Amino acid sequence: MSEIFGNFINGEWVDSSSGKTFKSVNPANIEEEIASYQVSTVSDVKAGIEAAKSSQTDWSAIPAPQRGTILIKAAELLEQRTEQIASEMTREEGKTIAEAKGEVGRSVNILRYFGGEGARFCGETIPSERAGVFSYTFRKPLGVVSLLTPWNFPIAIPVWKIAPALISGNSVVIKPASAAPICTIRVIEALNQAGLPKGVLNMVTGAGSVIGDELVSNPVIKAISFTGSCEVGQSIQQKTASKGVKTQLEMGGKNPTIVLKDADLDLATDIVINGAFFSTGQKCTATSRALIEKEIFNDFVALLVDKTKKLKVGNGLEQGVDVGPCVDENQMKTVLDYIEIGQKEGANIICGGQRLMDEGRDKGYFIQPTIFSGVSTDMRIAQEEIFGPVLAVLPVEGFEQAIALANQVKFGLSASIVTNQLNRTFDYINQIEAGLIIVNLPSAGVEYQLPFGGTKASSTGYREQGSVATDFYSELRTVYLKY
Ligand code: NAP
Repeated sequence: MSEIFGNFINGEWVDSSSGKTFKSVNPANIEEEIASYQVSTVSDVKAGIEAAKSSQTDWSAIPAPQRGTILIKAAELLEQRTEQIASEMTREEGKTIAEAKGEVGRSVNILRYFGGEGARFCGETIPSERAGVFSYTFRKPLGVVSLLTPWNFPIAIPVWKIAPALISGNSVVIKPASAAPICTIRVIEALNQAGLPKGVLNMVTGAGSVIGDELVSNPVIKAISFTGSCEVGQSIQQKTASKGVKTQLEMGGKNPTIVLKDADLDLATDIVINGAFFSTGQKCTATSRALIEKEIFNDFVALLVDKTKKLKVGNGLEQGVDVGPCVDENQMKTVLDYIEIGQKEGANIICGGQRLMDEGRDKGYFIQPTIFSGVSTDMRIAQEEIFGPVLAVLPVEGFEQAIALANQVKFGLSASIVTNQLNRTFDYINQIEAGLIIVNLPSAGVEYQLPFGGTKASSTGYREQGSVATDFYSELRTVYLKY
């Protein structure tokens, strides 16, 4: 029997009023249970929101640099548990242990960074045009904020929302994705142990389709930060727009990598493989389209397929594994459906395309890294987010067509280009429709101290991470003071 975790409300681990729990299993071996969590009800959510509301005024009265010391202490506590948390992440979400350790390390850095932001929670002094008037701005927290997070970065995304929310003086209610809640629990343990006052951070687990609406619509909630699918994000936006509730949505992507003919093919294929297949393609910034100048298309594809076939797919805890399983059965079915859709649309599989059931992989959700050629831009596999290890390769006539095709999707999260041509690089930087513009690196792989977010249907435009993250979680006030 696996450990049963409570909700975290008003500083206590408590059972849901439903009396029910649900369990998570290892996607590399579904016979292994990881943990059980509360099937929360609307009344549990209300209790979390009430606790957050009661604590918020006192929390915001603590000077921001002092709030920061709690985040910095939590970073230290989390860091001490890196091995344990990374192993739990791999067993619950499926990514490789190296990726999981990297993600814990990044979360530690995010906590430290926003701890430091406490001392920089600044406004500006701006000269008044009137004599004897001192004018300046300062930041106020919003109040109680709801955070809704996905499973694919099960520690980094909760942390990159919790940390700026707390440093800005807000109280929080968070609901992690049902497929992978354990890392959020470890973050809460660290912040609690670091001395976060009770009620400031609350967590409920359970189905977003059942309790999500309360987290979005409760009148106490002053802002909602959501990362997940476009479908759910848009439904949230419809609910919040009419009420004027501040809403941050980070959603899907259909990210291109453009490879120009001067590119080093070894580097370019490594970049595309890293972006397309690492983390099983389950990154919002994953590369799902490679746009290759026609002169190098055949050589590029031959090398790409050769290297892709050498990737080891398996349990992320095992040494040498490059690609873990899909997170759950639904996600695996979605990916297999898209592989079938691509074939029906007339595209050709030139690598992979199958579920892997041999060598003990029958108990997990493993899919071969898959490459399609013969893809046209109107196909669904070239337009829709698949969120799995599936890549489409398309030849292009030249730079102009590459940019046109890259931009010919509803999404605009990240993009990359491989080239040494300086003029083309700047043309790309100016013309590509993406929030994250990357050159000679994979489309996935970002750093915590730089702003993160997309354009078009990928995002509502508020940025996460970096110092601008607190813009969403705070409001500027302007002061005119005649002395
Ligand atoms: P999802 O199904 O949209 O779920 C995201 C979160 O919303 C989960 O906690 C989910 O709870 C909750 N939720 C579900 N229905 C809800 C509702 N009606 N109201 C309120 N909340 C609700 O997304 P996912 O499958 O977890 O994550 C994959 C998606 O996230 C992909 O599209 C990916 O591109 C996107 N993503 C984007 C970024 C970015 O920064 N742009 C980063 C990572 C991932 P349950 O788990 O209980 O359903």
